Amino acid sequence: MATWRDQVALVTGGGRGIGRAIARRLAREGASVCVNYLARADAAESLVADINANGGRAIAVAADVADDAAVEGMVDRVAATFGGVTILVNNAGVSHQATLESYDQEKLQRMRQVNADGVIHTTRAVMTDMRRQKYGRIVNITSIAALGTALPGNAFYAATKAEAQILTLRFAMELGPFGITVNAVAPGFIQTDMTHGTDENAWKERAQKLASAAMLGRVGEPDDIANAVAFFASPDSGWITAQVLAVDGGRMDYLGR
Ligand code: NAD
Repeated sequence: MATWRDQVALVTGGGRGIGRAIARRLAREGASVCVNYLARADAAESLVADINANGGRAIAVAADVADDAAVEGMVDRVAATFGGVTILVNNAGVSHQATLESYDQEKLQRMRQVNADGVIHTTRAVMTDMRRQKYGRIVNITSIAALGTALPGNAFYAATKAEAQILTLRFAMELGPFGITVNAVAPGFIQTDMTHGTDENAWKERAQKLASAAMLGRVGEPDDIANAVAFFASPDSGWITAQVLAVDGGRMDYLGR
């Protein structure tokens, strides 16, 4: 019977925001955790130091999820340190706001490479060990944008997340026979660096508007998402797969509704 103490988790983009809360939560449950980061080693290392100081086990490893060779190197490093990855959380993501008018092919291509191709690279890199162990939990962080929210400027970002969402369902089908579950958590509006921007007043106004569009009347915290991820990642969730869970406080502003 698998327990949390047997788990080896890889959280992409784990140095800040939602990923940081997920890494911390999985470590608290008892998993060994690899905090993947792209550029900010200091943030990832401070989280790792904090987890280790509190009785957990963690390492930080740099890799660009858009680079499949770098991802493979990272997964090998985790295996050499803690054993094969049993929990993969595809959290790394970028959001470029654009409209049909301001469409920028290069930027949007990069966004697709991170948000969608990244999910393919990491899943391929962990699946050999997971298949051998006949066990695995994969949780993809998509977005309610992929479910059709009406926030302007989000169309191309939403499309990358829709790709991640359909990959979730298809990979669940491919990997199910090996005891591997694949699910998605689709966050609503969460207070992080990604959503904050630099203009404090503009942020407050936006947050207030989106809070009032949610049944629960507030925007989300990274821990709201970490909680849902811990549910899917749990050893107890072995018969739940191909699900997309919106964690959005009950948002009501969906297109066509
Ligand atoms: P964030 O910008 O604070 O964190 C994203 C993290 O991903 C950063 O640490 C960044 O360095 C990392 N990252 C970016 N590109 C990477 C790459 N190529 N390789 C490795 N790491 C990379 O954003 P966040 O708000 O914490 O978002 C986390 C996830 O949740 C993202 O996938 C995002 O799209 C999704 N999401 C966020 C919200 C929200 O309201 N904040 C809503 C819906 C979905």
